[in-house]
Amino acid sequence: MRFLQPGTLEEAISTRVDNPEQSVIIAGGTAVVLMLQHGLIAPEVLISLEKIPGLDSIRIEDNRLHIGALAKLGDVADSRLVRQYFPALFAACAAVGNVRVRNQATLGGNLAEADYASDPPAALMMLDALVEVKGISGTRQISLPDLLLGFLTTTLEPDELITGVIIPIPTEQPRMAYLRYNNRSSEDRPCVGIAASATFNDAICTGLRLTVGAACEIPTRLSEIEALAVGSPLTDTRIHEIAEGYAAGIETIDDLQSSAWYRTQMIRVHIQRVLKGLRDG
Ligand SMILES: Cc1cc2nc3c(=O)[nH]c(=O)nc-3n(C[C@H](O)[C@H](O)[C@H](O)COP(=O)(O)OP(=O)(O)OC[C@H]3O[C@@H](n4cnc5c(N)ncnc54)[C@H](O)[C@@H]3O)c2cc1C
Repeated sequence: MRFLQPGTLEEAISTRVDNPEQSVIIAGGTAVVLMLQHGLIAPEVLISLEKIPGLDSIRIEDNRLHIGALAKLGDVADSRLVRQYFPALFAACAAVGNVRVRNQATLGGNLAEADYASDPPAALMMLDALVEVKGISGTRQISLPDLLLGFLTTTLEPDELITGVIIPIPTEQPRMAYLRYNNRSSEDRPCVGIAASATFNDAICTGLRLTVGAACEIPTRLSEIEALAVGSPLTDTRIHEIAEGYAAGIETIDDLQSSAWYRTQMIRVHIQRVLKGLRDG
């Protein structure tokens, strides 16, 4: 196996184009190395992104937060900008696995892997993040629903790399939270992850965004259910109605970690917890 470390994005893309079937991109390697060790992949060429400068930056530009694809999940969680503007993303990245995983895993790798049992995608979808993708024919920005197709499946073309994530900074700072539930050890992947943000005018809820991740093939936002919150106080009855709407509207995953039925119950419980937390501020 050849291990290549291109120094630019363009070089990485052309190396990939030159070896379409036989090459695999590696960023932090937390997923790729496991796949190699288990013999699930045996590429002739490993293309590391590690030496490409600038891909790990976290900065504000044009009132949007830009996070480079090579930013480690630990660095995203430690970022002052992420904590200030997007506490739900901070909480999602801080919740991942353990400190060794967070110090190695990258945000781009987490998205490209497209494992449903992940934390950051739900928070990013709730925040209306765009994923920047670069390939041989140029750069495009796509939403999370346009990137993630299903378990371990994305819409990335073979020559395309994720170069970063762009999140608009809200004009009015909402209350935000990410609540993850693990049914086994705290280092396990999530069983359910709920990302939410809400704005209030006195007691009246003026906006709600709610995404459920890890329980379904791709993170899910139900805008018609979110709308139930808007224009009135977030009473316990209204919160119950929203939780029931999500529980009924999401097709949950059945796997070795938990049954689909159990995940539906956990969605019901944790949406109520997260919304009461936002309301009671
Ligand atoms: C013990 C353990 C516990 C974990 N717990 C959690 C958890 O609780 N929550 C959670 O969300 N995740 C968890 N994970 C998953 C972890 O977050 C992902 O494995 C990691 O984010 C992948 O990033 P990476 O940089 O290591 O990717 P890599 O392993 O380098 O790559 C992963 C995949 O993405 C592709 N890829 C990488 N970067 C790019 C790019 N820029 N453009 C295009 N394709 C790319 C690779 O070709 C590969 O297919 C856990 C992993 C481990 C090993």
